Amino acid sequence: MTDIALDRRHVPADLPERIQHYIDGEFVDSVDGGTFDVLEPVSNDVYLQAAAGQRADVDRAVAAARRAFADGPWPRMLPRERSRVLHRIADIVESRDARLAELESFDSGLPITQALGQARRAAENFRFFADLVVAQADDTFKVPGRQINYVNRKPIGVAGLITPWNTPFMLESWKLAPALATGNTVVLKPAEFTPLSASLWAGIFEEAGLPRGVFNLVNGLGEEAGDALVKHPDVPLISFTGESRTGQIIFANAAPHLKGLSMELGGKSPAIVFADADLDAAIDATIFGVFSLNGERCTAGSRILVQRAVYDEFVERYAAQAKRVKVGYPHDPATELGALVHPEHYAKVMSYVEIGKSEGRLVAGGGQPDGFTFGNFVAPTVFADVPRDARIFQEEIFGPVVAITPFDTDEEALALANDTKYGLAAYIWTNDLKRAHNVAQAVEAGMVWLNSNNVRDLRTPFGGVKASGLGHEGGYRSIDFYTDQQAVHITL
Ligand code: NAD
Repeated sequence: MTDIALDRRHVPADLPERIQHYIDGEFVDSVDGGTFDVLEPVSNDVYLQAAAGQRADVDRAVAAARRAFADGPWPRMLPRERSRVLHRIADIVESRDARLAELESFDSGLPITQALGQARRAAENFRFFADLVVAQADDTFKVPGRQINYVNRKPIGVAGLITPWNTPFMLESWKLAPALATGNTVVLKPAEFTPLSASLWAGIFEEAGLPRGVFNLVNGLGEEAGDALVKHPDVPLISFTGESRTGQIIFANAAPHLKGLSMELGGKSPAIVFADADLDAAIDATIFGVFSLNGERCTAGSRILVQRAVYDEFVERYAAQAKRVKVGYPHDPATELGALVHPEHYAKVMSYVEIGKSEGRLVAGGGQPDGFTFGNFVAPTVFADVPRDARIFQEEIFGPVVAITPFDTDEEALALANDTKYGLAAYIWTNDLKRAHNVAQAVEAGMVWLNSNNVRDLRTPFGGVKASGLGHEGGYRSIDFYTDQQAVHITL
C-alpha cells in the first residue's frame, strides 16, 4: 500500500487495542491468555488483538448464563418489564448510530452509508421483539363441560448464538433481541474477522439495565470457541448464521445433545428477468442486489437469468451500469463498493473471478479496480453467457461477482433457477401477474421478491430451503424457537 493510499484511509478515534470476552458482567481475558489478530481491510494491517476463547472460556460463560437463568430475575420478569429494557437498548443503539457505523465500516470494509443503515436496523430488531413479546397471545381451547387446554410458554435456557462477519452488528441483533425478549440468557460467539462492533454490546446492555450474566460474549475462532459452544451440554439452543458447510458440521456436533437448531446458511439466489419486465427497474435492482454490502450479502441475486428477447440489451446496459458502481474507501460517503472483509475472503473471491474467465464472457471488472491495488478491493465483475454447470453459477462467491445466463421459456427459467443446492431467495421481474405468482410458487426459495428488492416486514419468515437453512427467523417463528410451549390439560 502506498503512503498516499494510507494517508487517505480513515482510522476511527479511540480504537481499542485489544478486545476481551464479557462474562458474568466483567470484561475478561482468555483463561490461557491467548489472542488472535484482527485486520482492517483497506490496508490489511493488524489493528487489534482479540481474546481467543477456548473451551475453558466457553465453560465460564455458559456457567454464568446458566446461573442467570436459574436464579436471576430475567426469565421471571413480566414480558412488559423485559420489553422496557429492550426498548432502552434500541434507543441506545440508535443514539450511537454514527459511531457504530464508523467502527463497522472500518472493521468490515462496508461503505459507510450502508453501515449507517445497519445500526438503525439493529435498533429496530430490538423494538420489534420488545413489542412482540408484550402482544404475545398463546392458545387456549375449551370443550364446554369437559376440559380446558392452554399453553404455557417458557424460555428454554442458555442460547448459543453464532454469527457471521457480514453486517455483523445487525445480524447479532436479529438473534439477541428474540432470545432475550423471551427470557433466555445467551452466549454470543461473533465472527472472528469482525469482532469490533460486537464488543459494544456489553456497554449498551449494562447501560440499559440488563441483569448481570444474561448476556455473555466469547470471542474466538469457530473451530475453537464456536465448536465448544455447540458441544456444550448446558446449551440447549444453537442459532447459527453462516456458511452451509459450517452448518453441516454444527448439525453433526449438536446431534448427540438433540439441540434446538436454527440455521441461516448460504445462498446463490436467482434474479429472473422476463422480457416483459420494467428493464430500468430490474437493472437498478439487480445491480443493487449483488453489489450493495460489497456483494457480501446472503440474499444477493448472484445469478441473473434473462429472457432471450431482451438478453443482449440487458447484458450491455447491466455491464455499463456495473462499471459505474463507485469503488472507494469504506469511510467515503460517495463509495458504493468498499473493501472485502479479509485477505482470505478476498483471495477466495478473486479465485472465482479467475475461474469465471474460462467459464463465461467477462463484460465488466475482472480484477482490482483502477487506483485500488492494495487491500481487498474488487471491481464490480460481470460474466455473461454462463452455463448452468459452471462453478460461478453453482457456488456461493459472496462478493461483487455476478453470472448472467439466457433462457427462452418459463419452464427453462425455473429449471435454471432451481438447479443449485441452495434455496435462500429469488427475485422475479415480470409485468405478467399470473406468471409472477406461478413462478414464485414453483421456485425453490425461502423468500421471493416480485418486482422488488430489499423490502421486508419483520413479521414475515426469514430463511432458506435446501442447503440454505433450517427453520426460520422473524416474527413468531423466532419466539417459537426460543421458547418451549407446554400444553396443560384440565378435566372439568
Ligand atoms: P462461517 O460459516 O465461516 O462462520 C460463521 C460463524 O461460525 C463464525 O462466527 C465462525 O467463527 C463460526 N464457526 C466456524 N466454524 C465453526 C464450527 N466448526 N463450530 C461452530 N462455529 C463455527 O460463515 P462466514 O464466512 O462468517 O459468513 C458468510 C456466510 O454466511 C455465507 O455463506 C452467507 O451466505 C451466510 N449468511 C447467511 C445468512 C442467512 O440469513 N441465510 C445471513 C448472513 C450470512
